[in-house]
Amino acid sequence: MFEWDDGPKLAGKGFYLDSRRPRDFSFVSHAHSDHLSNHKLTMATPATLAFAATRVKVDQTLPLEFGQMHALDDRHRVTLHPAGHTFGSAMIRIEREDGQSLLYTGDCKMRPGPTADVPDPPQADILVTESTYGRPNFRFPPFGEVATQLLELVGNAMKEGRQPIVMGYALGKAQHAVKVLTDAGFPVTEHGAVAKLSDVYESLGVHLGPRRKYSAADFRGASALSLEERGVLVAPPQVARSLFSQQFERRMTIMLSGWALLKGAEFRYGVDHVLPISDHCDFDELLELIDRVRPKKVLSLHGFANFPDILRARGIDADLAKPDPQLKLFG
Ligand SMILES: [Zn+2]
Repeated sequence: MFEWDDGPKLAGKGFYLDSRRPRDFSFVSHAHSDHLSNHKLTMATPATLAFAATRVKVDQTLPLEFGQMHALDDRHRVTLHPAGHTFGSAMIRIEREDGQSLLYTGDCKMRPGPTADVPDPPQADILVTESTYGRPNFRFPPFGEVATQLLELVGNAMKEGRQPIVMGYALGKAQHAVKVLTDAGFPVTEHGAVAKLSDVYESLGVHLGPRRKYSAADFRGASALSLEERGVLVAPPQVARSLFSQQFERRMTIMLSGWALLKGAEFRYGVDHVLPISDHCDFDELLELIDRVRPKKVLSLHGFANFPDILRARGIDADLAKPDPQLKLFG
């Protein structure tokens, strides 16, 4: 049912899955830019379509709610299921008339996050999934534990008169941070790139608490606000080494990333602290996902090339989704 043709797609059909090139018809699991392109027809959840429209030109759309059945043609029907990665992010389950099924997860995680949907992977015969953290050394601590650490670091910085800057993807992780901070009563100023997407969250009914959009005048000059008024600055990761960040002479920078578990992550990102908050499955969650889907075959992409070997050693039939070097068909 699955085919790699310069990207993942449904075998023998012009239906792509998260194609990075413009196609006539593609499913888009979520609106991170490495999963987007300007397709003629885009199938996605209404939330993903709203986020995608802020990043690429979206032509014709086929919005599907979670659980809503759609006939792709007379032989295939599809349903979308919460992937838990970002708000509205979806897995797609494709079922063929002979009962064979395929689940493509896109990016996903099994832990519920403060601003993402509760993941709900259905059973399928073939599971195509990411393996970003597909090694046993990647086990993330519970979200609440890291959130407490974040609040402590930010609170200390405020007491010391240092500008706290919290960095995470503008779609997803930044909103987790904003929600945790505003729930704890910290004032929050959002970098423009974050504010644009947070506004979409609000329009979709996900309330993030009081937020102020960054304006240079709030930070410098005659009308500058006090640190207590402007509060914590939430920004995208690319701000870490930028002039934007360096304008704050006394600052404390925190990156939210699963790579926090690797030694020297602070040095690599050029920040004071890296906290292990990720919107991807860690190793145990990937195993949990496989357990819940109960597939006959797992195909992995976006991650460690030896993830299939690790699975095979555990008695799970697995392979890379992108065959090398020749095109292969599965199922
Ligand atoms: Zn993503």
